[in-house]
Amino acid sequence: MTATPPAAVRTAAITNLGCKVNQAEMEAAARRLRELGIAIVDGDRPADLVLVNTCTVTAEADAKSRHAVRRARRASPDAPVVVTGCSVQVDRAAFASVDPGARLVDNRSKDALLAELDGLLGAAVPATGPLPRALPTLSGVEIEGIADGRASVERTRAFVKVQDGCSFFCTYCIIPAARGPERSLGPEVVLADVRRALAAGHREIVLTGINIGTYDGGWSERGFRGAHTRSALTLAGLVRRILDETPVERIRISSIEPQHVDDELLRVWADAAPRTLPHLHLPLQSGDDGVLRRMGRRYLSADYRRTVERVREALPGVAVHADAIVGFPTEDDAAWARSYAFIRSLDLAGLHVFRYSPRPGTAAVRIAGQVDEPTKKRRARELLALAAEARERWAGGRVRSAARVLLEDRLDDGRWVGHAEDHTLVAVLAPSAGADLDNAIATVAIEGVDPARADRVVGRVLDVSPPSAAPPEVPVDA
Ligand code: SF4
Repeated sequence: MTATPPAAVRTAAITNLGCKVNQAEMEAAARRLRELGIAIVDGDRPADLVLVNTCTVTAEADAKSRHAVRRARRASPDAPVVVTGCSVQVDRAAFASVDPGARLVDNRSKDALLAELDGLLGAAVPATGPLPRALPTLSGVEIEGIADGRASVERTRAFVKVQDGCSFFCTYCIIPAARGPERSLGPEVVLADVRRALAAGHREIVLTGINIGTYDGGWSERGFRGAHTRSALTLAGLVRRILDETPVERIRISSIEPQHVDDELLRVWADAAPRTLPHLHLPLQSGDDGVLRRMGRRYLSADYRRTVERVREALPGVAVHADAIVGFPTEDDAAWARSYAFIRSLDLAGLHVFRYSPRPGTAAVRIAGQVDEPTKKRRARELLALAAEARERWAGGRVRSAARVLLEDRLDDGRWVGHAEDHTLVAVLAPSAGADLDNAIATVAIEGVDPARADRVVGRVLDVSPPSAAPPEVPVDA
C-alpha cells in the first residue's frame, strides 16, 4: 500500500455493536486503516477519526448505538465521526439529531464505508473497478469494541463474511429492511479472504452471513418462497472448495437456519472431519407452533426436531446451539409452557436467549396480544436458567474425553483458555511454566469441571501444535 494518511490522522477509534457480520465488516475497515499506517484505538479513546458500526436488533441495541455515537463525539470533539450499520439504515434521522456533524454511511453497500474512509483520508481510490472490499474480514472480537489490545482472539479465529442480507421477513426482524435482500460473495472472493486469514496466522475460520444458508455463489434462480431452484454454488459446495483449495485447519459456520441444513452440507461436514468442527448453531426462536407461524418462521417444532436428529446422526458428538425469543406477541402461558418444554426436550449444548422488543417497521408490532414486560423478564430468567443448565451438562459430559483446543487467552490465574472442537470452553495449565500457548492447538485430556465455572472444563495438555513461526506460504489472491 503506497498511500499515506494526511498528517492529521494518526489514530482511529472504532466502536462495533451487534452481530458477527458487523464484526467482519468493521474488521475490513480496520484493516484498511492499518494499511494506511493508522493505529486503531478503543472506541472510547480520543482519536483523529471515529467509526461507529451500529445495530438495530433490539430497541436496546438502537439506544446503545446512539449512545456510542454520543460518547465518541465527546471523546473526540473535532474528529470526523463516520456512522454506519443497521440502526443508521432504519433511522437516519435519530443519528442526525444525536450528532448533526456525523457522516452517515449507507449500510446496504459497505463499499460506501471504504470509499468514505478513503475520501476522508485522501487515499488513492481507484476511479473505476472494485473497491478493496475483499480485504480480510477478520474479527472474533468482543461484541462491543475493536481495539488493538484484543490481540489473542483476533489471532486465533477469523470471521469471514460470505453472504449478506435476507428477504425472509420473519415478522419480528428488521434485518431485511436494514440490509436488503440476500447477496452472496463469489467463491473466489471468499477463498481469497480465507487465504488472507490463514496467511495472517488465523487457525480457525468461521463462515459468517446474515442468512448463510441462502448462499448461492453469486447467482441463483428462485422458486417457492424464494428457495433456490438452481444456483452457481451451494454453501456445501463453497465449504468443499475451501477445504480442497486451502490448508484451513478448523472451520465452523456461525449460524444457519434449520431448514437449510441439507444432506449435501451434512455429507461435506461429516467427510471433512476433523477439519469441519462438530458444532452447529440453529436458530429456533420458539418451541410453540402457533408462535412460530406468527413469527413467519419457515418450519414447525417437529421439523426443527427432525433437523437436530439428522445432524446428530450425521455428526456424532455434535454440539447443537440455538437462539430463542421470549415474549413474542400471542405467547400466552400455554404457548410459553409448550415452548419451554420443547426447548428442554432438545438437550441443547447452548442457548442464546432474547427478549422480544417491538421494532417499528416490522409486522409483529401490529399483532394483537403483546406480552407485558414483567412476564417477558420472568420467562427470560427461566430460559436463561435452562441455558446455564444446558451448558453445564454439556461441559460435564466432556469429562474423561480428549479435545483439540484452540487456545485464545490467558486467565488471571495463569491458565490458558480456549474452545474445543464442539465449542466447549477448556482451561489448561501450560506444560512448562511460562510457555506461550497463544494461538496453539493443544490436545487435552479433559479431567473435570472447572470449580471456578461450571460451564468450563479443565484438562491436561498432552501435546501442542504451535502456530507456525512464519505465516503459511499461501497466495492471497485467488
Ligand atoms: S431469517 Fe428471519 S430472523 Fe433471520 S435475518 Fe432473515 S428475517 Fe431476520
